[in-house]
Amino acid sequence: MPPAPQRFIALVIFLLLSAATVCAQGEQPLRELPYTPGLDVSAMDAKADPCGDFYQYSCGGWIQKNPIPADQSRWSVFGKLYQDNQRFLWGILDQLAQRSAGNSATQQQLGDYFAACMDEPRIEQLGAEPLQTWLQQVDAIGSRADLAPMLARAHLAMGDAGLFFGFGSDQDFSNSSNVMAFAVGGGLSLPDRDYYLKNDTRSAALRKQYAAHVARTFVLLGTTEVMAAQQAATVLRVETALARATLSQVDKRDPYKLFHKMKRDRLQALTPGFDWDAYLGASGLGDVVDINVTEPAFFKALGQQLRNLPLGDIRVYLRWHLAHALSPLLSTPFVNADFDFFSKTLLGVPQLSPRWKRCVHWADAQLGESLGQEFVARAFGPELKARTLNMTLQIEQAMQDDLEHLDWMSAPTKARAIEKLKSIINKIGYPDRWRDYSSVVIARSDFFGNVSRATQFETRRQLDKIGKPLDRGEWGMTPPTVNAYYSAQMNDINFPAGVLQPPLYDPKMDDAPNYGNTGGTIGHELTHAFDDEGRQFDAQGNLKNWWTPKDNQRFNARAACIVKQYGHYTVVDDIKINSRLTLGEDIADLGGMVLAWTAWKAQTAAMAPESREGLTPEQRFFVGFAQWACENNRPEDMRVKAVTDPHSPGRYRVNGVVANLSEFAKAFTCKPGSAMVSAKPCRVW
Ligand SMILES: [Zn+2]
Repeated sequence: MPPAPQRFIALVIFLLLSAATVCAQGEQPLRELPYTPGLDVSAMDAKADPCGDFYQYSCGGWIQKNPIPADQSRWSVFGKLYQDNQRFLWGILDQLAQRSAGNSATQQQLGDYFAACMDEPRIEQLGAEPLQTWLQQVDAIGSRADLAPMLARAHLAMGDAGLFFGFGSDQDFSNSSNVMAFAVGGGLSLPDRDYYLKNDTRSAALRKQYAAHVARTFVLLGTTEVMAAQQAATVLRVETALARATLSQVDKRDPYKLFHKMKRDRLQALTPGFDWDAYLGASGLGDVVDINVTEPAFFKALGQQLRNLPLGDIRVYLRWHLAHALSPLLSTPFVNADFDFFSKTLLGVPQLSPRWKRCVHWADAQLGESLGQEFVARAFGPELKARTLNMTLQIEQAMQDDLEHLDWMSAPTKARAIEKLKSIINKIGYPDRWRDYSSVVIARSDFFGNVSRATQFETRRQLDKIGKPLDRGEWGMTPPTVNAYYSAQMNDINFPAGVLQPPLYDPKMDDAPNYGNTGGTIGHELTHAFDDEGRQFDAQGNLKNWWTPKDNQRFNARAACIVKQYGHYTVVDDIKINSRLTLGEDIADLGGMVLAWTAWKAQTAAMAPESREGLTPEQRFFVGFAQWACENNRPEDMRVKAVTDPHSPGRYRVNGVVANLSEFAKAFTCKPGSAMVSAKPCRVW
């Protein structure tokens, strides 16, 4: 379970990897990665006016030529590259699964995991059987005292926060080298508290469809239709009570609202209905004293629920959450029911993804650093690593120059900012030390057991960190991932090998599009260290104010400009961007481009870059930047993203940025008053 770390990992893009995904029949695994150029003029719309809608100008051709595959909720340059990576991983796993000799122990484990996952006849034959042992444990809850040990076992095996709450480990916000226990809010099935609390017609209709899905799942487990409908109402009632006490997405971006370090007896006092000694004892954490309770109000409400709910309702709630968590691993009726609601209804996805894709996803999620080794050995050489590191150092130099010349920040704050910048650790491609999964038993005939054991391994690994020295070398993403992140507590920027490939980084291209694209991504992650959230952590990754009051005010005024600008953009229907939720990403998008531009100019200062394909070098820089964000979206998916995604839609991640840059207006000779020329440009960094 990843509780708080995810909160402070700001991602470049949010890729939906849930139940999701079928593609064209007859798809084959890839033996090598296909090549797509870093700047693709055929992906542009030459008829569009770059000064009127730069996103359309850069991405119009791509949008037309790349309809959303039936198994996807959205489609983008990132998504397409990730799918290429998946097909490539499929080739690797398929080969390892079929090979009878020559595999190392690690390779054999991967091959057996994949073979077990692809063994559909066996999975169909088992039906709901793997779930039964869990349901029996729920039935065996005869008193409130039985609840805590049962939940501890379930949390260990499932590793998610769906069962009432989550429990894991993370860095202490006040002392980043100390890893401590975290109790985090959870217990919901819908994507956000708003889904339970909003009273508009669409929200009410969706809750009805959700209740129908919960009932359908109970029927699959043998409950009568009438009883199932009543039980679904119970689930919705319990989750709504928990949703009321859950922080909003915007509040969850405020680290101070998530930091409540307390002794375990204070947590016990918050939730008198729950036996924490029994829970921690059964989790192997009998000695834990200090706990960060991210949302005390949630735990108070949880305590009331656990004390007041009839035991029968608690059992109903648990039955649902166990079935919900495990449905994707069971036979077709469960997989389809889960897909019908959580992908089709909620996100608008027409078709379930093929089995191979789901199996690759699970292998990456569960044995990711073993699979990552195979990926890196085939797709990411030392030369590429060296080139990316060089570009990263240039972007960091650009940030230092930027900080030194800022006219709105005082010298003492500048000194602290530069200290923080110089402390940032660059992680490129893959970890220096690979995770060892050799203790996980993987059996070729036991898919469900493999998933449980691998999840348990990961949960245990997280819990075992409590009280131990922090491993600063650890990664929060696997190497094939097409994404990147900054962690405020680690104070590191991380670029997996998967994101450093064409068309995002293209060694065959001229510098301009590479700096616009990958340079922009590196600048984006670096800027996260200084966005509205990241700037609250110091060089050591501690939550500590290092700003003078005046500089603080000046930052907030600059951030307010961004909030206002993005708040005008429409996501879908009449829903505007929640620009307090997207603020950190919007600041990072703008800052990233400023830094990439400076670094590119420095890199090419002694050269005379040439025009190519009808575009000047400056134009190629900006089109290269824009083409990372080309995407197609389904309205259902956009409605979910509007509530939960801290990133703005691709169109505004491009147009919102260039409208603030005079370098852009100059490159395309855009006149004042054009849509892409802001009258009052925003600038933070
Ligand atoms: Zn980001």
